[in-house]
Amino acid sequence: MGGPCRRISQFVLKVHSRCDLSCDHCYVYQHADQTWRGRPVRMTLATVRAVAQRIAEHAREHELPVVHVVLHGGEPLLLGAAGLREVLAELRAAITPWTRLDLRMQTNGVLLDEELCRLFVEYDVRVGVSFDGDRAANDRHRFFAHGGSSHEHVRRALALLRRPEHRASYAGILCTIDVRNDPDRVYEALLAESPPRVDLLLPHATWDHPPQRPGPEPTPYADWLGRIHRRWVDDGRPVPIRMFEALLPGGGGTEAFGVAPADVLVVEADGTWEQVDSLKTAYHGAAGTGFDVFDHSVDEVARHPGVAVRQDGVAGLCATCRACPVVDRCGGGLYAHRWRTGSGFDNPSVYCADLLRLVDTVGAHPPPTAPVPRQRQASSSLSGAESTTSPVDEVLDDLATGYGSAETLRLLAATQLSLTRALLAACRGRSGAIAAWELLVHLDQAAPEAVRAVLAHPFARPALVHRLDTSALTGPSAPGDPLPAFALAAALRAGVAAAVRVPVWADTITVPTLGSLVLPGLSGSAEVTARPGEFRVRSGSVEQVVLLDPTAPPSPGWQPTRDVSVPGGRLLIEDGDPYRDCYGQPVQPRLELPAARALGRTLAQAWRVVHRDVPAHAAALDGGLRAVVPLAPDPARPLRSATARHAFGAVAVTPHPDPETMAVLLVHEWQHAKLGAALDLCDLVGPGEGTRIRVPWRPDPRPPEGVLQGVYAHLAITQVWQARAVTGGGDASAHAAHFLAWTRDGADALLASRSLTAAGERFVGRLRHALEETRAGAG
Ligand code: SF4
Ligand code: SF4
Repeated sequence: MGGPCRRISQFVLKVHSRCDLSCDHCYVYQHADQTWRGRPVRMTLATVRAVAQRIAEHAREHELPVVHVVLHGGEPLLLGAAGLREVLAELRAAITPWTRLDLRMQTNGVLLDEELCRLFVEYDVRVGVSFDGDRAANDRHRFFAHGGSSHEHVRRALALLRRPEHRASYAGILCTIDVRNDPDRVYEALLAESPPRVDLLLPHATWDHPPQRPGPEPTPYADWLGRIHRRWVDDGRPVPIRMFEALLPGGGGTEAFGVAPADVLVVEADGTWEQVDSLKTAYHGAAGTGFDVFDHSVDEVARHPGVAVRQDGVAGLCATCRACPVVDRCGGGLYAHRWRTGSGFDNPSVYCADLLRLVDTVGAHPPPTAPVPRQRQASSSLSGAESTTSPVDEVLDDLATGYGSAETLRLLAATQLSLTRALLAACRGRSGAIAAWELLVHLDQAAPEAVRAVLAHPFARPALVHRLDTSALTGPSAPGDPLPAFALAAALRAGVAAAVRVPVWADTITVPTLGSLVLPGLSGSAEVTARPGEFRVRSGSVEQVVLLDPTAPPSPGWQPTRDVSVPGGRLLIEDGDPYRDCYGQPVQPRLELPAARALGRTLAQAWRVVHRDVPAHAAALDGGLRAVVPLAPDPARPLRSATARHAFGAVAVTPHPDPETMAVLLVHEWQHAKLGAALDLCDLVGPGEGTRIRVPWRPDPRPPEGVLQGVYAHLAITQVWQARAVTGGGDASAHAAHFLAWTRDGADALLASRSLTAAGERFVGRLRHALEETRAGAG
């Protein structure tokens, strides 16, 4: 077999393939791969000898300074003290003459006793124990086959390892997290065992079997881990937590993070070489190589394509990861978590949205001795000197100018799309629409732009949030499962023939981004057959063909979406999608054609006004605003506008006829949308429940995030009026001075409130600086 020789320095030996526990989250027994069923129960001494010779041969030929060997299972302690002694003796005898041998074991601890501890001290074996935290957390998954708790057994094992005479063999704790557990209690329970090190693991999951997301939050894992991270930082980092260290800039990564070449091989109990164990979660046989220790050397296995592709660093990742601003730290996450039937491992991690946020959380609190982050020229450095900034810092610094470059808007849109995809994966677990999901998965490969257009629609995420938590939005009662409508819209956009059963709501089938079919008599659900340029609907006695030709009159009942040409592209006038009702204010039912045309004209003129007055704000509009929702008229408040945190890419406005006024509304609301997306990326406001801040634009004290939103919107309005003051005069100077004072006072109150995170203080500090520059620029 050809190809360059690769050095492998870590080997996992499955010395016993059965276990005395029956954990329901175990990837060995409970996930897709079931090859353990055909393996011998224990590794024979002859196999151990063959493995040891292969490792020694590899260490010698490559002059490795150290090799790491981990005894694993199943449960390695089931070998018993005598069996383990034989294994350890074989390994030491064969490998130690050629290199330093770092021996380790991963165990559930149930069978650990004093004799075994003495053996491990004698052979210098470092023992890691799997333990998920407090009793409630540990009992959630880690139990015996009869259902009994393992908690006290494991705690007893940890107490043995803590004893001074055994402490040298105590490597640490491996904790698989579950976001339903209390993070504070888990953290305290782990620390109570005085481990030398803690490893936190995300539960194994793939795009085919996404992780549990119990609530509507798009990043529950980042939020949960962020809570532990905060405690850990506040406590002065009392114990190394490998995940947090690995995610720091220059943190070096682990198998789960970073782009360092994969450096691990597994030997199963029968002597077969396998790739990393976590692949067992992807599909049956995923970790297999077809090689064994009797006939194949480490060099031969290391050239296996599955191993080799993981040596390619960033180049081996999917296009999304390669373009990701945090790829150097995330590295696409654990290889197994990228799996999706159809596209294999050529995907971001199924935890992508969580990882993006977690990288930022960790990066915001580097320890005093952290590796030095890579240097970048800050785009808006206060001093003009080179400074150290993370990619998220760069996005925030750019937004703090009040504007936002095309690149920043592209990044915000990309992270919003990641969140939507995460929610989609969560919804998939609650959806019975298997065929629709499979169609979406297929189209994601065959016509990715069509799926992207549907998922990037501003009301895709509200639909998913609504599905996951019907109390999260104030809008419609429930148009039903959104997955079939997404699949239908993507198929129609792609011109792909497909059949989907779509829910009907209020006599209506909504095809996101394309339009709505309103036909009395539609009820329950409808069988929809899509073909290029048309679709056929059957529901009860109703049968209707809808032609999608935009140049022909609409088919009966078909209400196509309407858009208008603006300098940034096409702007949708969204008055049909039921999930647009997410603004806490009544939305306008579908506009009559003349009203829609009038609104389109005003919006296009307003857009040009923004280009005329403040080109930097126009660039931010061009880069991200894709839809405008008309709000219902309210004589008491004729001029209203709104933004919804979940609906990035859209703003809602009352259809005001004056383009100059509309321009201010668009810029104002787009500020809220940009800041909302930034807050999905990074916490700018601390938890500080109950903090209220007085601001000049409201009679009642406001929570810090509300003040931050107000300050950011007013900064933009200040910039608009100052630009108009320079060119037009009139009342513009007075308006500019008024909004400048509001913005300055609000920013100063925020800074004084001590309610901001470090990133928030940096953001508002820079925003304050931008405000001064705005004032100076206006003369
Ligand atoms: S102790 Fe480990 S190997 Fe055993 S069932 Fe639990 S997770 Fe699986
Ligand atoms: S955060 Fe997502 S896109 Fe970025 S490297 Fe990680 S998995 Fe890939």
